[in-house]
Parts: sequence; structure tokens; C-alpha cells
Amino acid sequence: MSDRHEHHTIRRIVLPSGRAIEVIRFNEDDAATRDLHLCPHCDSDLVQPLSWSETPESRWQLTLECPNCGWMESGTYERAQVERLEDRLDEGLADMIADLQRLTQANMAADVDRFIAALDADLILPEDF
Ligand SMILES: [Zn+2]
Repeated sequence: MSDRHEHHTIRRIVLPSGRAIEVIRFNEDDAATRDLHLCPHCDSDLVQPLSWSETPESRWQLTLECPNCGWMESGTYERAQVERLEDRLDEGLADMIADLQRLTQANMAADVDRFIAALDADLILPEDF
């Protein structure tokens, strides 16, 4: 039980890339533990940092924006919160790359479909090769 303590729980997540990350949840008040990637306005999980800078108290000054509803917030957040957001962004990036790969495959499939349709319509003749 070395990964479970009274003050926080650790959840291990394996990313599509195979990289494992540990998400640490501290049992503090809500403001300090809120998941920053979640929009409090529309519940979207795509909140992105527009800017960030470290404060002298080792906390982070962030400006967050929800691309879904346009909600924005500037505030100072705990390091653990920001690290969770970074982990989440890594995860989002992996998802985006996977989507992009699926999209590329879909485009290739569409090209093949167009090619077959052109063949069927006799638009491509032997002299095209
Ligand atoms: Zn939102």
C-alpha cells in the first residue's frame, strides 16, 4: 500500500503511446484540486492554457480558455494542479495524433474510393499510366 496515503491517492493511467503517468489527487479544498482541463461552465474537458508563468511561491499564474464555450479564467494555481493539466495535455496530444492518423487513413480511403469511381466511369484509361 505504498502508493496510497491519507492525504492523496495516486491513479496510474497508461497513455495510448504506452507511456504511464501517475495522477495524484490531494484531498484539499476544491479550489486547489479542481481539474484545470475541465470547464466549470460547460463541462468540456478541452480547456487549454493561453499563457502561464511561475510565481515566486512556486505556484503558477495561468490564463485558461475553454475552446467550446469561450470561458476564460486567470488565476494562481497549485503546482500539482498545473502538473495534472500538463499530463492531461500530453494525453490530449496523444489523442490528437491518433485522430490525425485516423483522418489520414480516412483521406487515403476516400482517395481510393474516388480512384475506383473514376475507373468505373472510364475516366482513367490505360494511357494514363
Ligand atoms: Zn466551456
